[in-house]
Amino acid sequence: MVAERKIETIEKASSMNMMDQTRGLNYEENLLWEKAPGDHPGVDLPAPQNSTLRTGLAARSTVGLPQVSEPQVLRHFVRLSTKNYSIDHGFFPLGSCTMKHNPRLNEKVARMPGFAHIHPLQPESTVQGALRVMYELQNILGELTNLRGVCLTPAAGAHGELAGLMTIRRAHELNGQGHRKVILVPDSAHGTNPATAAMCDYTIRVIPTKDGGRVTVEAFKEALYANGGDGKDVAGMMVTNPNTCGLFEREIIECADLLHKAGGYFYCDGANFNALVGKIRPGDFGVDVMHINLHKTFSTPHGGGGPGSGPICVNESLRAYLPSPVVVQDKDGSYHLEGVDERPTSMGRLKGFQGQFGMHLRALAYILSHGADGLKQVSEDAVLNANYILSQLKEDFYVPFAGPCMHECLLTDKLQKDVGVTTLDIAKTLIEHGMHPMTVFFPLVVSGAMLIEPTETESKESIDRFITVMKAVAADVKSGDTAKFHDFPLSAPRRRLDETKAAREPVLRWKA
Ligand SMILES: *Cc1c(COP(=O)(O)O)cnc(C)c1O
Repeated sequence: MVAERKIETIEKASSMNMMDQTRGLNYEENLLWEKAPGDHPGVDLPAPQNSTLRTGLAARSTVGLPQVSEPQVLRHFVRLSTKNYSIDHGFFPLGSCTMKHNPRLNEKVARMPGFAHIHPLQPESTVQGALRVMYELQNILGELTNLRGVCLTPAAGAHGELAGLMTIRRAHELNGQGHRKVILVPDSAHGTNPATAAMCDYTIRVIPTKDGGRVTVEAFKEALYANGGDGKDVAGMMVTNPNTCGLFEREIIECADLLHKAGGYFYCDGANFNALVGKIRPGDFGVDVMHINLHKTFSTPHGGGGPGSGPICVNESLRAYLPSPVVVQDKDGSYHLEGVDERPTSMGRLKGFQGQFGMHLRALAYILSHGADGLKQVSEDAVLNANYILSQLKEDFYVPFAGPCMHECLLTDKLQKDVGVTTLDIAKTLIEHGMHPMTVFFPLVVSGAMLIEPTETESKESIDRFITVMKAVAADVKSGDTAKFHDFPLSAPRRRLDETKAAREPVLRWKA
């Protein structure tokens, strides 16, 4: 009797908790405004006496600020800060995103007062060390890509794409080729590629990748010489290598040769450089311009953890048109930012100041601490880890493209879909098991895609845990135990959200 009552009380208490969804030291967090409405000031101030405010200046209505005390504010923000899942929490296999460990050494370097406390408007003579960091990074990125003209200013990968295409456009304009209006883009491209081309006023002509997942010379020729043309209307192509299916584009040199013969430039989306760094140089397979996501390949924090940085690297044919400024070294050995007035062929300024300097520092620290052999090991281990996952799961999930992959592997839900378990269900099941899902439904050309990128910084243990969960999912589906998959995640504070509605009708303002 007594025991029963005890249980009842616990249930009652816990159902009270459930009302505000706070369980297991996992706090449901309301907005500050919702938390403390009303007339409860968070601080005690004496009532004003003999107010010196002139009449007319006193507030006519309440300002509507939340009435909260210091500990309430502190707890609010600390609780919010724990709601972000991050690479520092656990495995984060998002394909295409290269969520790798950010070494703390980089953070230490970025916080050194000589770097952290300078201002972009300081005279160049007082920031020679910072300019040298940028100069060295330019040179190393030029060396790693064999594209020796480097501009560090773009603030993200997509911004690098914009910088690259504007550089190409500027080159064509100054060379009497401004009539070229077509950019060739494979159907498997990241959405930012066609979006960038469209922003630069180009027409997009799609290269179909067909069944193999790769661009073939055949398909490329069809696109280059479409409608019986000679390719002279083509300004360039944007190709990711390795591509978004995790495959190396084997016929890329032939395609680049044909493009160059027709007078176009080859833009390489370098977001997947993690698979190649230290092994091969994109300038050697025909690339004229490429962006690098420092926040992917060179481990600077991203995804809520820090700003992106997307430097572009170009070969000699495009160097004169690069955005400004770039850091140059003068004859006396000092460094300075070369402005548009010194290089009038430049496509111009892309943003305020010099880009994300803190990220330049972290990337340089990362590169120097790895060295040439370390960077080579990075890409080898990244590719090995992805292939390990592929080899372990290829009997359990459908593999759309045969053969080994590069730094990410692609699976689909084809074997599970017939009995009603989709890629979405599998992703939600991973959340239930305390794991961030892989990238889902991308690339768009592959139905039910699951793109998995473990990166080189994951341990075999964490990769094995992922494989175990994925295998268990496949086994449960095979045994017919499928109903539960539609309910996952059960333990997350929010379960299945209407993501389409959230995207289409975002509520961006709090209203009482
Ligand atoms: C990440 C990524 C981009 C865009 O980079 P952002 O820094 O997010 O703007 C472009 N293309 C590919 C293939 C990517 O993976």
